[in-house]
Amino acid sequence: MGWEPYRADQILNWIYKKFITDFDRMTNLSKQHRSFLKENYLIHSLDLLEWVEGEDSKKFLFKTKDGHIVETVLIYERDHLTLCVSSQVGCAVGCSFCATARDGLIRNLRAEEIIDQFLQVQRLTKEKIRNVVFMGMGEPLANYQNVRKAVEIMVSPWGLDLSKRRVSISTSGLINQLREMAKDPLMSQLNLAVSINAPTQALREKLMPISKTNTLEELIKVLYEFPYPPDRRIMIEYALIYGINDEEKHARELAKLLKKGRKKFKVNLIPFNPDTQLPYKRPTMDRVYSFQKVLWEEGISTFIRISKGVELFGACGQLRSKRLVLT
Ligand code: SAH
Ligand code: SF4
Repeated sequence: MGWEPYRADQILNWIYKKFITDFDRMTNLSKQHRSFLKENYLIHSLDLLEWVEGEDSKKFLFKTKDGHIVETVLIYERDHLTLCVSSQVGCAVGCSFCATARDGLIRNLRAEEIIDQFLQVQRLTKEKIRNVVFMGMGEPLANYQNVRKAVEIMVSPWGLDLSKRRVSISTSGLINQLREMAKDPLMSQLNLAVSINAPTQALREKLMPISKTNTLEELIKVLYEFPYPPDRRIMIEYALIYGINDEEKHARELAKLLKKGRKKFKVNLIPFNPDTQLPYKRPTMDRVYSFQKVLWEEGISTFIRISKGVELFGACGQLRSKRLVLT
């Protein structure tokens, strides 16, 4: 528009450093600049509908301009805040244990809709949010270009300036996109979390239909080849479902799968978060600990993540969009 280049820096600074998104408050811009921006641009692409406060998390409900609901969860960790963002409305992957899958994929979120989840939650939060996980609604690698653009804004010094080590992509294991990610100088530096959920092809196909075409064998191969420095580990996520994938034999099979990469992987066990419409149950903690013990004995670092936000239905697998309920 023929404005001085430093104007861009001023605007970026207001938005991404001060979280001021009202053009009228961008006081180092002239009145004409401000009114031009106001007439022609919109910063917030989502409307905040409400939030629900839980013991150790806060769930935010947003509405897109075309009337879909997007959910974002702020998690209070011991010494920091983590924002769990959504990348799609719904999800096409169709895992049988996940509430987000129920309506299928409605649409991809655009980069600005992903970033706006951060901007709006940060504006309402005193402490700086330094960690982002793409573990909300949707399969981030199925929306690669938009997620990449959002990540670029998150980690750029002119943007949210988050450390690349504090941004995690969680994927159900799309092989082609994982290969693309491995070659991508930006995306390959993020934390990678892969939802395995079953240690054999047969069981995985039942729980995650996507593994018919993205087989476990190929997935494990791509992960072994993923170009991480020796001190960096890929997080293997495993939702434990009572009587389905939580027996000791499953733990032994999982250990076998990961054994050659003891230093490359760590495992996160997520006891299943119940949903009123799903037939699955959460295992008792005894079963969870026995599963963990088998992996530890095989030398694989294994953690248990008791999902935060269960009481809000804001925990893993409980997020669910609603179609055009509000306009
Ligand atoms: N689509 C991506 C990211 C969102 S799901 C993925 O699948 O990785 C985030 C995590 O929640 C995944 O590891 C998934 O396996 C887990 N999950 C889904 N439903 C769950 C449930 N009901 N209980 C516990 N974990 C669940
Ligand atoms: Fe989609 Fe992840 Fe849910 Fe599977 S677990 S349906 S990939 S959001």
